[in-house]
Amino acid sequence: MAMPRESPYAMVAIDEARHLITERVVALGRETIDIRDGLRNGAATAAGRVLAVPVHATAPIPDVAKSAVDGYAVRSADGAAPRQVIAEITAGGAGAGALVGGTAMRIMTGGAIPPGADAVVMVEHTIERDGIMTMRAAPNAGDAIHRIGQDIAAGELVLAAGTTLGIAEIGLLAGIGATEVVVTRQPLVAVLATGDEVFEPDVPLPAAGVRDSNRYALLAAARDAGCRVISLGIAPDDMAAQRQAILAGLEHADVVLTSGGVSMGTRDLIKPLLAELGTVHFGRVAFKPGKPTMYATVRGKPVFGLPGYPVSSLVSFEVFVRPMLRRMLGDVVPDRPLVDVALADSIRPSPDRPEYQRVVIHVRDARLVAHTTGGQGSSRLLSLRGANGLLIVLPGTQPYPAGATLRAMLTGPLAP
Ligand code: AMP
Ligand code: MG
Repeated sequence: MAMPRESPYAMVAIDEARHLITERVVALGRETIDIRDGLRNGAATAAGRVLAVPVHATAPIPDVAKSAVDGYAVRSADGAAPRQVIAEITAGGAGAGALVGGTAMRIMTGGAIPPGADAVVMVEHTIERDGIMTMRAAPNAGDAIHRIGQDIAAGELVLAAGTTLGIAEIGLLAGIGATEVVVTRQPLVAVLATGDEVFEPDVPLPAAGVRDSNRYALLAAARDAGCRVISLGIAPDDMAAQRQAILAGLEHADVVLTSGGVSMGTRDLIKPLLAELGTVHFGRVAFKPGKPTMYATVRGKPVFGLPGYPVSSLVSFEVFVRPMLRRMLGDVVPDRPLVDVALADSIRPSPDRPEYQRVVIHVRDARLVAHTTGGQGSSRLLSLRGANGLLIVLPGTQPYPAGATLRAMLTGPLAP
């Protein structure tokens, strides 16, 4: 087969590529989940799911005025005078009747304030002897009283649609009794590796073979982005086999990712295949690593032809696929944060394309400092080991010196 010298696909800018993807995002359906399912062994948990419908509190918290401390419920109008202790109120305990002038009731944290009382004096500021309580100072009305609705008002918006459920959010849902919530269905992402030279990681490798790191890494990345995943295995460099695998994936999956077969070689068949099966929206991006990335829709579903080089496929996933998946999930903040970082080492830009260099971003004296992960070759997966940022390096001919400030996409938690 003749080798074409030039790609038929126009090189689009990163922002343009992201826009072409974003404008085609189709929202997925909804489903109801129960936060109690997470208590069952092995059951799916609500953590990481994205709310499709806002959650409001139906009742105030607290529902009645309560004591915020262990102490004595009193009337502030009685001033600092000693009080006769007439009853004891425990948290959740039944009403002990009304409090009249000159009296106090022992009350525990969370105990309901009795009618007639308007303040609580901390036990630490009192002495009780022979049924008489004396205190250090006169209380003020409202002291140590946890008012009705002080934490959450009745009808208050507790969680907005588009919120990703995390630790506090799950606690809030349980706290307001909203055990069932409506979330966006998780996209099902199917991943296909391609290449005659690509093998399962556990089989003896023939000379010049490579182990399939991409499919495993991409499956992990899609799961990390909040999706469910299926593997479509490894297809040889054969169009019929690749067509069959992609179409099989589209039967069930919402998104198909392929790796390899998108460059200029005679056995790079994914691009003509996706053009045959659907509509290509871009076939090359002016960026590094990952220039040959292709985005198409087939049967109305997004299909990405990601590069074969392991770093390229993962960086392309991070920059183009992940934000799309988060949007499909209904996340209102689908993009990674951008931060300014100071370079710990001098780095060299690519002469012709913006480059996403892999870095470890540390906090040093409360400032962000980026350390390079070393050689930035697209086959060197070690350049992603421990990386929590992609340094956005604009093209140029001069190195950026240590100490220069550059923008970076934060892809993971900050390193200490
Ligand atoms: P390609 O885009 O198919 O020309 O592949 C580019 C490079 O990435 C080649 O060296 C491939 O061997 C390598 N490669 C392709 N697929 C994978 C994969 N699934 N895992 C690891 N490396 C791969
Ligand atoms: Mg290949």
